[in-house]
Amino acid sequence: MNYKNITVAGSGVLGSQIAFQTAFNGFDVSVYDINDEALEKAKGRILKLKPRYQQDLGASSEQVDAAYNRLTFSSDLKVAVKDADLLIEAVPELVDIKMDFYKKLAKVAPEKTVFTTNSSTLLPSQFAEATGRPEKFLALHFANEIWKNNTAEVMKHPGTDMKYFNEVIEFAKAIGMVPLPLHKEQPGYILNSLLVPLLEAAQLLLIKGVSDHETIDKTWMIATGAPLGPFAILDVVGINTAFNISRSKAKVTGDKEFEKLSELLKTEYIDKGKLGRETGEGFYTY
Ligand code: NAD
Repeated sequence: MNYKNITVAGSGVLGSQIAFQTAFNGFDVSVYDINDEALEKAKGRILKLKPRYQQDLGASSEQVDAAYNRLTFSSDLKVAVKDADLLIEAVPELVDIKMDFYKKLAKVAPEKTVFTTNSSTLLPSQFAEATGRPEKFLALHFANEIWKNNTAEVMKHPGTDMKYFNEVIEFAKAIGMVPLPLHKEQPGYILNSLLVPLLEAAQLLLIKGVSDHETIDKTWMIATGAPLGPFAILDVVGINTAFNISRSKAKVTGDKEFEKLSELLKTEYIDKGKLGRETGEGFYTY
C-alpha cells in the first residue's frame, strides 16, 4: 500500500467514522472541517466510537487510544491536506457545497493527492472538472456504522485512471473494508440500485391492499433465505427516510399510490412516534 497519509474532509456522521476506521488500521489521518466548533463536535463523535469498537470488534483500549492518537484536526484546508496521499470527501450532500469545496481543494492540494467522494446520490462526473485532476478522482462510498457494515463501493467516472481505481480498492482493503468495484457510474451504486426498487415494490403491495407487511416479509425471507424482509429493512433505514422518498416521488410523478403511501407513513407511523428501530417501534416492535 503506497498511501500513508489520509485526509478526511467533513467530519460529520460519516466523516468521523471514516477517519477513525482509517486511523484504527494504522494510517495517519488529518481531519478537516470548516471551523473549530465543527472539529470539537467531531472529537466528541469519535470518542463515542471507541467503546463501539471495543464492544463490536473486541478492540483493546490501547488499540482505540492509539487510533485516536493518529488523528490530527485542522480547519485550514491547506494544512489539512499538505501531506495527503488520499483525500476522502464527506461534506454535506449539496451540489453547491461540494462544488465549492473541490474548487478550493484543487488550489491547495499537492499534485500527488488522489481525491475520493463518499457522496451517496451525486455522481463523481459532476465534480470531475472542478477537481482539476479528473484522472485522480473517483467515488469511495461507505455505509453508516462502517466498522460493522464494511462495504466500500469504489466507483469510476469515465475519466478516472485505472491506476487510481486499483489503488483505492487496495486502500479500502487495507482499512478493513470489502471493496466492491463499479466500473461505470451508477446512481445509487450497487446496493441502492437493488434495495430501493425492492423496498418500493414491497410498499406498493401493502398500499394496494395485496397483503400485509408481515406476509410480504415472510414471503421474501422464506423464499430467498434473507434474514430480513423489506419492512424490517425499512425499520432499520427509518420511517422518516421512507416518507421523504415516497412524498417526493408522489410530488414528481403525481402517482396516487405513492401519495397514499406517504400519508400512511405519516399518520400511522411518524405522527405516532414510530420511526423504526431507532425508536423501538416501526412496522415491528423491538
Ligand atoms: P453530516 O451533515 O453529518 O456531516 C457533514 C460535515 O461536513 C459536517 O461536519 C460539516 O460541518 C462539514 N462541512 C460543511 N460544509 C463544509 C465544507 N464546505 N467543507 C468541509 N466540511 C464541511 O453529513 P454525513 O451524513 O456525514 O454525510 C456526508 C457525506 O457522506 C454525504 O455526501 C453523504 O451522502 C455521505 N454518506 C452519508 C451516509 C449516512 O448514513 N449519513 C452514508 C454514506 C454516505
